[in-house]
Amino acid sequence: MTAHEIAMRDTFLPFSRPSIGEEEIAELLDSIRSGWITTGPKVERFSAAVAEYVGAPYAVALSSATAGLHVALLAHGIGAGDEVITTPMTFAATLNVIVLVGATPVLADIDRRTLQIRVEEIERRITPRTRAIIPVHFVGQPADLDPILDLARRHDLVVIEDAAHAIGTEYKGRRIGAFPTTAVFSFHPNKNITTGEGGMLVTHDEAVFERTSLLKFHGMDRNAWKRFDKAGSPRYDIALPGFKYNMLDIQAAIGLHQLPRLDGFIAARERLAAAYQEAFRDLDGLILPERVPYPARHAWHLYTPLVNLDALTITRDQFMHELKQRNIGSGLHYTAAHEFSYYRDTFGWQPDDFPDAHFVSERILSLPLFPALTSAEQGDVIAAVRDVCARFAR
Ligand SMILES: *Cc1c(COP(=O)(O)O)cnc(C)c1O
Repeated sequence: MTAHEIAMRDTFLPFSRPSIGEEEIAELLDSIRSGWITTGPKVERFSAAVAEYVGAPYAVALSSATAGLHVALLAHGIGAGDEVITTPMTFAATLNVIVLVGATPVLADIDRRTLQIRVEEIERRITPRTRAIIPVHFVGQPADLDPILDLARRHDLVVIEDAAHAIGTEYKGRRIGAFPTTAVFSFHPNKNITTGEGGMLVTHDEAVFERTSLLKFHGMDRNAWKRFDKAGSPRYDIALPGFKYNMLDIQAAIGLHQLPRLDGFIAARERLAAAYQEAFRDLDGLILPERVPYPARHAWHLYTPLVNLDALTITRDQFMHELKQRNIGSGLHYTAAHEFSYYRDTFGWQPDDFPDAHFVSERILSLPLFPALTSAEQGDVIAAVRDVCARFAR
């Protein structure tokens, strides 16, 4: 047998797969059979459960984290003429919503080792028009919140945390969501817990809670399910023009049984990530993920080594193709946002304007990491990665 044959699986292994159990399925069926499918009591219970888990006083359930970031900016009064500082190493939604509210995204480069936004880069980009900072807790490690909150206090800026990767993440012993900001979690199927699609905005600001509650559902001043309650009045007011961004009970039904499993999911991810780190320690072909230098609990949303282009004769895209040939899926999280045509053309950004993000953008890949990944499957990934590194060594 050649090395290639040893590394070959006979079925394709995706880089991510949600863990949906019988309880989620039973709760979902209960919602469907009850006739109450849209926003209702399960959304209320799920919102309260997330608020309690993360340690936030207010939570608003939404159709996605993108919706959450959008209404967060609006509820904080950010719009035309304002600048919002964020990281180029994020999913495009973070920047898109800044543009969609009429504000201007301003980028602060990352640390290429931890992949997190650099506080001194944020500080350097603050102008009289800066209104907000959106740190992204990248792949499940926290951004350095204390100095970011300190900068925000000194310059009177809003902090909206893009916590799409970070439910269960801790910064200096406290969960993301517990800090005095607005934070947004994602429940997309690839994220650490899922509701199919969905998001949760949590905030410590009562006025932001009230505005986001209106903005998520047409600007209507009460929840739809209360309107049909026998005791309630059928009348409602439109307080402002809002969106249709509400989470459904059939989504919350899944989330209600995902949340109690989150800590177990993270423990499984942690074990798998540790096994990858150990298995790849001696490989020149990969640059392994590094931990942030402050106390943190890593939620291991993704396992993202960098392809060491100095040690290999192939690009990252070719590396991913070679893995696919070996029936191993991998993901690209992410191409740095400043390199997409809209952002490049609109803001005139060059790849090297943010050299660390550009470096990472050319090299990063996500290897399979999900709670149900078996050690045999992980062994296949490790064998395939080692095989590719050996075959294409410089
Ligand atoms: C997934 C993701 C989002 C968007 O989440 P959705 O729930 O899919 O809208 C935003 N920011 C980051 C960093 C993400 O990874």
